[in-house]
Parts: sequence; structure tokens; C-alpha cells
Amino acid sequence: MTKQLLNYINGEWVASKATTRLPIINPGTMELIANAPLSPAMEVDAAAQAATTAFQKWRRVPAPDRIQYLFKLKQLLEENLDALARSCVEECGKTYNEGVGELRRAIENVEVACGIPMLMQGRNNEDIARGIDEHLFRQPIGVAAMIAPFNFPAMIPFWFLPYALASGNCFIVKPSEKCPITQQRIFELVDKLNLPSGVLQLVHGAKDTVEAILDHPAIRAISMVGSTPAARAIYTRAAANGKRAQCQGGAKNPVVIMPDADMESATRILADSAYGCAGQRCLALSVGITVGEAHDVFREHFTKATNERVVGYGLDQGVETGAVISAESKARIEELIGVAEAEGATVLVDGRGKTVPGYEQGNFLFPTLLDNVPPQGNIARTEIFGPVFSLMHANTLEEAIALVNDRAYGNMACIFTASGASARQFRTEAHAGNIGVNIGVAAPMAFYPFSGWADSFFGDLHGQAEHAVEFFTETKVVVERWPREWSRKF
Ligand code: NAD
Repeated sequence: MTKQLLNYINGEWVASKATTRLPIINPGTMELIANAPLSPAMEVDAAAQAATTAFQKWRRVPAPDRIQYLFKLKQLLEENLDALARSCVEECGKTYNEGVGELRRAIENVEVACGIPMLMQGRNNEDIARGIDEHLFRQPIGVAAMIAPFNFPAMIPFWFLPYALASGNCFIVKPSEKCPITQQRIFELVDKLNLPSGVLQLVHGAKDTVEAILDHPAIRAISMVGSTPAARAIYTRAAANGKRAQCQGGAKNPVVIMPDADMESATRILADSAYGCAGQRCLALSVGITVGEAHDVFREHFTKATNERVVGYGLDQGVETGAVISAESKARIEELIGVAEAEGATVLVDGRGKTVPGYEQGNFLFPTLLDNVPPQGNIARTEIFGPVFSLMHANTLEEAIALVNDRAYGNMACIFTASGASARQFRTEAHAGNIGVNIGVAAPMAFYPFSGWADSFFGDLHGQAEHAVEFFTETKVVVERWPREWSRKF
């Protein structure tokens, strides 16, 4: 029987009263694997109320005791890593190793948040005036909610959840309606933690459920990751409702390839960035800007790598690129390749119209390489979110940096070079919040913030590390005086 996904509210698994359920289909095999409810506002309200009640006690549990739950969660995630990685493949289409990789990143955030007794320390000054001291405390903000995208169903809620929990908040996760199963499996582990009811909750749904979250007066902070239009809309509505918000949006990540780069390793690393996770990574490199003589040699190397990439079902041995999320997504990407052709780009390797033997119905799109993509055209600026890499050319590093900076997004920019001077100039001048030097996916470790800029981020404080701790806490400044003569004499 098809698995019916449940909400986890106030410490219990509850069947949603939703009138609509979405089928969750394995993008590689096209098998129906679950149905996810589009939870109505009353279920968001039930979660928000349970969280509000739980918060009164949870915020007073000492931080060293709160993190004991995270130590236990880490252990459970480690023990279940294989099953969770498989779950990512089944609902999202990625490869098993990519599933393992995202689980490792999720666990890393749990580990970092275990440092909360130090991470949320305040500061103080003795004698700011004679006999007067001043202190800054960090206190949890209360009830917070997270709205997740489909492409890292295990990892992305963990850019926020461990920090929210450790710093004394109650937290609600709304997984992607396209990939909700892995979070439900993770919450089956959360259920084993014996946390007080209402501290961590899961509510399935899509836009209407999100809007109920954004409009709920008890929910004080919103963390969201997804496409730029959704991030902008959610940030705007959250802010209009007086909430604190951090919304990470889409991307179009460029890489500059200098003529002095080691072409073999650059090709290997860039092929994995562009075509790994079927190009559905917010840190996928999608535009290659070759400088000077790099063009011909890189194009030759990359054409070969694009042709040789092994596409298939993510649980099969040796597969390097899995399926894209849905048939609609595949059709959209194919259409965008057509737009590129119409704009004058050359299709050097065409991934359209190919199938994987044994998975003929699967949403597979083979890696596609475009050359001479016009910098001012649509394709140079549109997030394709599929295994498509676009080449363009510049005569100098300065010209290349100008092309890097001529875009609305600012998630990541990379350079491949053997020159420290070129790397330094790039790192200083590129308009992006995450920079890679001879790196293809410059994903910050959990102890650094995930620093998107421009249309890739709406807010001030990003996910992960000290930014997350600041986001989930309020500062309270106390100025105090204790004159001896006002004390009762002993
Ligand atoms: P999406 O924007 O379609 O959905 C993300 C979440 O927002 C989902 O939970 C969805 O239910 C909700 N949502 C969507 N539209 C909404 C609306 N109008 N109102 C309220 N809620 C809405 O994104 P997706 O397709 O699931 O994920 C892919 C996108 O996420 C890509 O653009 C990718 O670049 C981006 N992404 C960004 C980062 C980052 O760190 N910047 C990381 C991963 C993915």
C-alpha cells in the first residue's frame, strides 16, 4: 500500500485532514512511493499552539541539557545514514553518494550546534560607570518555522533546526511537497529522542500551508530556502507580518577558467559541479567563462567529460548523474536548451531525447554543453536547475569578472587558476557571497554561514554557524547597579 505521510504535532503522528494529497513519485523509476497531504491552516495552528506551550519550559532547560538531545540525534542519524541516503535517492533522483554527502552535511550542523553553550554566550562590562555593570544575554525568540526546497531533502532543514533547538526555541519544519519523505523518516528518529512534546514538529504542505505559517501570530521567525520568486514572496509576507526572516533563493553560478589552470583537474571538478545532483544544486556551476587561450583547450576537455558522464538510476553502481525531479522539470530544461539555440548558442553536447536502459520512463536528461552563449541573452541569466553548462568567452580576467558581476544572483562564483594574484583579484572583486578558488562547489562548512548575496538571499543573517545562532536569539541588554548601602545589613 502507498505510504501516507503524517504530520508530527505535539509529540504525536497525526493523519492530516487535508482534502488534497500529492503523489510522490520516484523520479528514476516513476514508481508511486507516497502521498503527501497539503495540510490546512488549522494543522499549522495546532503545531504553533503546541510549540508556544512547549516553549515556556523548553527555554528554561539549561543549554548543556538541551544539547544532550542533539548528541542522541547525531547518533541516530549516523546509525540510519544508509537508509536516509537511499530515501534521498528514491524521492529526489540523486545518486547514493550524493545522498550520503548531504547526510554528512546535516550531521555536521548537529555537531556544530552542540557548541551552543559557548555559541550563545553574551558579553559584559564591569563598571561602565562607577558601580554599574552592563550585560548582554542571548535569549531564544520563541517559535520558528522552516520552509524547505526539494533538492536536499535531508540536509537543508539542518542548516537551521539544530541551532533553533539548541538555543531554546521550538521549531516547525515544512518539507518540500516534492520530496517530503526523508524529513518524515528523520522525524521518526526525532520521535525517539523523547524531547518534550511540541519542541520539534513537522507539517506537510505547499503554498497554502506556508501562507498559514507566515500569517500565524505565534510564529516569530521564518527560515526558507527555495527559488528566488518564492524566497522574495515569503520574505515580503513574513516581514509584513512583523516576523524575522532569512530566505535563501536561487542561483546562476559562474566559474572563470584562466589559461594557467590545470585543465584536467578543472574539468573533472567542474563536471561534477555542473552535472552532479543532475545540476539541481544551488551551488552548481552553470556558466563557464574561459579567458584567452583557455577557451579551445577547456572546451575540448569539457566536451569529452560531458559525453562520458554516466547517467542512470542513483542506486545503481557507477552512476554519476541521476534523474531530474519531475517530468515537468525535464520538459522545462529541454525547452530552455531550445531557447539557447534560438539565441545563437551552439549545442556541443545535446542531452535531450536519450533514455537510460531499464528506466525508459525516468526523468533523465543527459548532460548538455552549450558554447557561445550570448552574455546578454536569457540563458546566461536564467536559473536552469538541470545538467546544462553554458560556455562564454572573455579576453582578460577583468572582462571575465565584469561578466561574473553582470547578473542578479550572488550565490557563488569560482575561479580556476594557478596564479595567486588572479585568485586574489577575483576573490576581492566578484559579487557573490560564496567564493571557490580551484573548488567546484564552495559549500561553507557548518561552522561558516551560507553566505548568498543579491537575489540569492533575502535577509541579514544566513543559515548555519553564528549567523543561525544570532537569528534564533534576541539580545537583551541589562544595566545594573547593586550599591552596598542599599543591601540589607547582615
Ligand atoms: P520552490 O521555491 O519551488 O519551493 C521551496 C519551498 O517554498 C517549498 O517548500 C514550497 O512549498 C514553498 N513555496 C514555493 N512557492 C511558494 C509561494 N509562492 N508561497 C509560499 N511558499 C512557496 O523551490 P524548489 O523547486 O523546491 O527548490 C529549488 C530552488 O531552490 C532552486 O531555485 C534552488 O536554487 C533553490 N535553492 C537555494 C539554496 C540556497 O541556499 N540559496 C539551496 C537549495 C536550493
